[in-house]
Amino acid sequence: MKLPIVRYGDPVLRAKGRRIEMVDERVRELAANMIETMHEAHGVGLAAQQVGEALQLTVVDISGAEDQESTMSLDGAEVDPKTSMPLVILNPELSLGAESVISLEGCLSFPEITGEIRRAATVTLRAMDLEGEPLEIEASGLLARALQHEVDHLNGVLFIDRMSAATKVALRSRLKRLQKETESSGRQLGSASVAARAG
Ligand SMILES: [Zn+2]
Repeated sequence: MKLPIVRYGDPVLRAKGRRIEMVDERVRELAANMIETMHEAHGVGLAAQQVGEALQLTVVDISGAEDQESTMSLDGAEVDPKTSMPLVILNPELSLGAESVISLEGCLSFPEITGEIRRAATVTLRAMDLEGEPLEIEASGLLARALQHEVDHLNGVLFIDRMSAATKVALRSRLKRLQKETESSGRQLGSASVAARAG
């Protein structure tokens, strides 16, 4: 089931996610709904906060991004990142590589807003998978960027926090407007808002 995506201005986006100690039916259903919601919105990742749940749970799928390369190792073995998607990641911890790279980034909670962000070029992520098993991913390229963006969400950190001061100044009026729109509409769950937020 597709879920409404929470927009900037909703306080849940600033909430740190609770750890998931046990994978139960509710967590599995939420993960499945988040994957469907991410695919429908053509996003490369979606965090639980973005569907109104402050949990350490995120989904990632970079297989639709043809123009940006990624590399990936899963539990120490190199794999094809495209055929390893979608990823379901619980309780992640990230180690960042030393090199960094600047690239344009967007976020499903900030419609039509993008900005250049400096992030680590490579990451190692340790987490739990949907079977409750430990998961270790090494990544570079778009996948490394997406993992950093999503883990930030799980800690209440947003991509605008990582923009340069100049970029933030340039976006200030658009961010204010988006925040106001979100605050005045409130969080609307249900099918009407699903339709309104599509696309
Ligand atoms: Zn985002």
